[in-house]
Amino acid sequence: MTFESFNFHPAILSGIKTVGYTEPTPIQAQAIPPALEGRDLIGLAQTGTGKTAAFVLPMLQKLLRGPRGKLRGLIISPTRELAEQIYDAIKGLSHHTGIRSMAIYGGVGMEAQKSKLRVGIDIVVACPGRLLDHVWQGSIDFTDVETLVIDEADRMFDMGFLPDIRKIMKCLMHERQTLLFSATMPDDVRKLVREFLKDPVTVQIGTVAPANTVAHALYPVRQDLKTPLLKTLLKEKGMDSVLIFTRTKHRTERVALALGQEGYAVASIQGNLSQYRRQAALDGFKDGTFKVLVATDIASRGIDVSDVSHVINYDMPDTADAYIHRIGRTGRIGKTGDAFTFVSAEDEPMVRALERLLKSPIERRSLEHFKYDAPEPVKHEFARGPRPSRPTPAAPGAGERRRVPSWRRPPAAYRQPA
Ligand code: AMP
Repeated sequence: MTFESFNFHPAILSGIKTVGYTEPTPIQAQAIPPALEGRDLIGLAQTGTGKTAAFVLPMLQKLLRGPRGKLRGLIISPTRELAEQIYDAIKGLSHHTGIRSMAIYGGVGMEAQKSKLRVGIDIVVACPGRLLDHVWQGSIDFTDVETLVIDEADRMFDMGFLPDIRKIMKCLMHERQTLLFSATMPDDVRKLVREFLKDPVTVQIGTVAPANTVAHALYPVRQDLKTPLLKTLLKEKGMDSVLIFTRTKHRTERVALALGQEGYAVASIQGNLSQYRRQAALDGFKDGTFKVLVATDIASRGIDVSDVSHVINYDMPDTADAYIHRIGRTGRIGKTGDAFTFVSAEDEPMVRALERLLKSPIERRSLEHFKYDAPEPVKHEFARGPRPSRPTPAAPGAGERRRVPSWRRPPAAYRQPA
């Protein structure tokens, strides 16, 4: 199959050429024809399959047929990073069409967004919260919206955006086309589909299995040895660009600091960072300034870094879905990648659940020269055994245990990770 077979407008075909796509991916081959017919659609596909172009291309085709400078295409994304990534894809694909698009999300000034909207925009990619701010302030007009895309719907609900999505849907014209993309179909998403989509076509690409270009393996390791193991792994495997995920913001910063001290060009992104700093970290990682990017789970979805050679889960993700999404950061179209996950004893139930879901055991690996039996760090003052007795004025010479002041903690190097 070729892109020509969809009968796209020549300006769109030029855009496809500009971004360098030669043939449609399976999700594009399946989703584009019904979307071009104007059908509502459910796309079950994970990131990395080419799902963005699967909804952007039919939207562009439709926009080229009607009036311009009115908001006719609306795309809702759960995170700013994903919104930016979709916006980038639109800019590339619509390069020769004259179609105007913009991204709208919080954490940046509202006024600049308002003045851009006043100029006349054809496509808006937005996060729900800020989009509603514009609705309440009257700075966005939904009257002409013909196509609505909800991307990563399952993620949207995980993040508690369900009420916002409903409010947005209720502001839109009844007569519209709705395309909903999701990696999984939890009950909440099904409910939304029943409520708001009309006779939708479902297209599905490998819902649970990770992309088969990804080799994934588990590294069983004690919690306190994760950082030393990470350093050894990075040294031994000669990785080009590595995305590392941790469970908490604090760990993200700590791991980035530890690797920085080893001389790695490393950046980190987590929810506390300003949009500007997040974007700077992402851009630096994309252009190769940083070889290592450490991130929390929240950042894991929207990142489109096509050349990631390795993903390392410093911590096991909380859900199987998050695991599949995280390792989906590598091994993208036409490339192979490796995904390693550090697991400690408390992760066993999750590992079993994951293996049940994938219907196959995940390979366990170990590093030959790594000291897995290094002595455990001292966790607590009292673990050091009885304290020496000391005479007190009240009972001279008597053996009385000294009280340890509450502020006295073991030295940082011995502390268990948070
Ligand atoms: P997505 O799943 O939309 O996040 O896309 C994943 C990556 O695949 C992005 O870097 C896209 O630019 C790329 N991509 C999308 N469609 C194609 C295609 N037909 N051929 C090659 N690469 C593609």
